[in-house]
Amino acid sequence: MKIDKFVVKVASRCNINCSYCYMYNLGDLSYKNQPKFISDTTIKSFVKKLKNHIQVNELKIVHVVIHGGEPLLWNKVDFENFMLAFKEITNENIEIFFSMQTNAILLNDEWCDFLKKHKINIGVSLDGSKINNDKHRVDKKGNGTYDDVIKGLNVLTKNGIKAGILSVMNLESDPIEYYNHFNSLNLRSIDILLLDSNYDSKTVVSNHSKKVWEWYIKIFDKWYHEKGEKSEIRFFEMIIREVLGEEQNIDSLGSHENNLLVLETNGGLEAVDALKLCGDSFTKNELNINSHEIDEISKSNLMEVYYNSGKYLPKKCLACPVQDICGGGYLPHRYSSKNGFNNPSIYCDDLLRIITHIQNTVVEDMPKELKIETGIQKLTYENALQIIEETLPNISEPDYIELLESFRKKEYETI
Ligand code: SF4
Repeated sequence: MKIDKFVVKVASRCNINCSYCYMYNLGDLSYKNQPKFISDTTIKSFVKKLKNHIQVNELKIVHVVIHGGEPLLWNKVDFENFMLAFKEITNENIEIFFSMQTNAILLNDEWCDFLKKHKINIGVSLDGSKINNDKHRVDKKGNGTYDDVIKGLNVLTKNGIKAGILSVMNLESDPIEYYNHFNSLNLRSIDILLLDSNYDSKTVVSNHSKKVWEWYIKIFDKWYHEKGEKSEIRFFEMIIREVLGEEQNIDSLGSHENNLLVLETNGGLEAVDALKLCGDSFTKNELNINSHEIDEISKSNLMEVYYNSGKYLPKKCLACPVQDICGGGYLPHRYSSKNGFNNPSIYCDDLLRIITHIQNTVVEDMPKELKIETGIQKLTYENALQIIEETLPNISEPDYIELLESFRKKEYETI
């Protein structure tokens, strides 16, 4: 596994309590056993092992995503030492890009100086306007956090820092209002994530009167046809690029390998943290940066499935004409107690409709000569369904299915 993205959990606790958070509120209680902050010893081990890993794998670029909990709960002195520790590795042959995901509430001028000094790109979590954001992104007393986040965004703007926004879809909101709100904030980029859900928790989205795909397509149409300057919306841009044949490096879509690893505050080496939504301690294993090399993560079955999730697909996805773009969706959304990861995404129908809609829009816009040259044609949702139906009976059982199903819960093991 050629891992070159590291999500480093510098803090395991948060100053707010979003209802949908996979860290604390979807059944995984393992955070309670984590040190609140990453230790100096663990940081030193990580930097030392990272140096070996870079050499062995001949990496030229590495991404370090500073994550939590809420990373700004960490004190500045330790944070400064953390950043300085990487100087030991950086040289003319290797570039390390730093980014941080925060709720922005604790941001001040001093933190902004720190971010600028260390060239840390910042992503802020916010779910649309006050009324929408405050439904789920609340503090520990249940009060909305919108006003505090906007204060943080204003501090960034005052200091000349443009943030990217990470938001979670909100079917209770009007999609156009949701989009317009972000567009008014002068952001670097927006990403609108699917609400974390899987077959064990599907009521979260399936009981809603609005359809996920309709909500997304309304935003896509508004964004795509909008003239003038507008923020990048990563989810849509990734699909457009994939439609045009450019492979994208994002773990929620596509058929490429997922080369991202999580370092927990105790030094634990784990597959992507959103898998915590599959059950208590689901991501835990015996690997720790203080006693193992980074490449030993290949011993983890969960990491093997995550790394190859765009290729280790259930039969339905293998029959699907958009499998290269979709890749079965985000691995945590494929989980069920009954079948492990041997399922298409819980958002399968939504993804199929969104991808075909975007594909149709892009093909419609292509110059005629390019369409002739590439032979690209529109693929409608109905055609895609028909292809799946016709192809599925001819797909034989892949040999990795046993591995996908090995994650099912004990009560289903004998079935
Ligand atoms: S749209 Fe559905 S069937 Fe097609 S690849 Fe995605 S999850 Fe699989």
